[in-house]
Amino acid sequence: MKENIRKHWPTPKNPLAIISSNLQYRHMRLRSTAIHAMRQATSKYASFQNLKQGFVNLDTLLARGRHSLAAHLPGLIQPQPALLTVAITARCNLRCIGCRYGRDFMPNQQLPLGTVENLLVDAREAGFQTVRLYGGEPLLHRDLPRMVSAACRLGIRPYVTTNGILLADKIGALYEAGLRALTIGFYGTNTAYDEYVQRRAAYANLENGVAAVRDRYGMDIQIQINFLLTTLSCRVSAVEEAIQFAERHRTRFQVDIAHYSLPYFTEGIDHQLQFATKYRDSLETVTKELLRFKDRRPDLYPESHASIRSIPHWAIKGRAMRVPCTAYRMIWVGADGTVQLCYVTFNLGNLHKTRLKDMLFTEAHKQASRDAFALNCPNCHCHRDERIRSHAASQQTYRQ
Ligand code: SF4
Ligand code: SF4
Repeated sequence: MKENIRKHWPTPKNPLAIISSNLQYRHMRLRSTAIHAMRQATSKYASFQNLKQGFVNLDTLLARGRHSLAAHLPGLIQPQPALLTVAITARCNLRCIGCRYGRDFMPNQQLPLGTVENLLVDAREAGFQTVRLYGGEPLLHRDLPRMVSAACRLGIRPYVTTNGILLADKIGALYEAGLRALTIGFYGTNTAYDEYVQRRAAYANLENGVAAVRDRYGMDIQIQINFLLTTLSCRVSAVEEAIQFAERHRTRFQVDIAHYSLPYFTEGIDHQLQFATKYRDSLETVTKELLRFKDRRPDLYPESHASIRSIPHWAIKGRAMRVPCTAYRMIWVGADGTVQLCYVTFNLGNLHKTRLKDMLFTEAHKQASRDAFALNCPNCHCHRDERIRSHAASQQTYRQ
């Protein structure tokens, strides 16, 4: 398998490029192995937690240095596969205002188990450490537990992003398969949630599902809620309710900002979800609330202070927010088998025709990585915290 990857590693033309290329390949494999070993150790011994944090901090500093140099030496940016994100199905049981899944985005497409198993084998060989299984609504895919199990067997950490509606029924099989991490889209509480997802009593199902996970498995399963910040939820009261949910169920907390370039996201009727300059004050107010929560519960809210402070700029500036992108660390797979560098763009092929291993480390993959870093793309808010942490200029701008 290793030979297969080497076969696709482009043949550099000069000795320096050969050394650089080989170093990056080895770095990628070593990094993956070290992170895997670190995860094993920290899950067993609490005293390793500080070591793990030190490793993460060192990795961030190295990335910041590399990004600064890469502004002048673009060749420093190479594919560094770490996160594989797979939309295993386009079906969904909700009808969120801001989403096209379950309707006109890849309608009825679903990835077969065998395709996902091959994908995971190739991903392991390429050094991916984490796989995100999502959709659509991934709990609607009957083979999700077997996909989780396959990832665990290969040593890739799986997590599932779900709307949580079916959690109470499905969590048992997923836990048995080895799942220990969930992220959940959070679109408000009570009627605000039901109106956004356009389903009656959906919020009650979500909260029951999360409570069921905690009742049965305690803190053995890490849960994170992803609070969607749109013009509808940009209120202190909405943020407070989400924070109360997080504290009630001991979930981690993240903020996703209304997208403007994701192919499956819509901005609602007359762009009702999308931010404009007139929302500056409410964004600043909400950001202050988020910073207070961060100071009070850093254990629940891992986003960096600088990244939180940058939220109003991401929301209002849109494409004009020029923070180099770290998509060179990921691969996105759609429910129809499409393989891209990221959620939005840089098509690399289709799993129904080509194995992942034959799409990685090609010239197209390398060029896509460099273009992503240089933002030769539609731009988006994805991986906001990682991008801000790795960008020296943003560290200056958002320090206070
Ligand atoms: S945002 Fe998620 S839960 Fe809502 S319709 Fe889209 S896929 Fe379904
Ligand atoms: S900033 Fe560009 S490369 Fe990065 S995830 Fe968004 S669209 Fe993709």
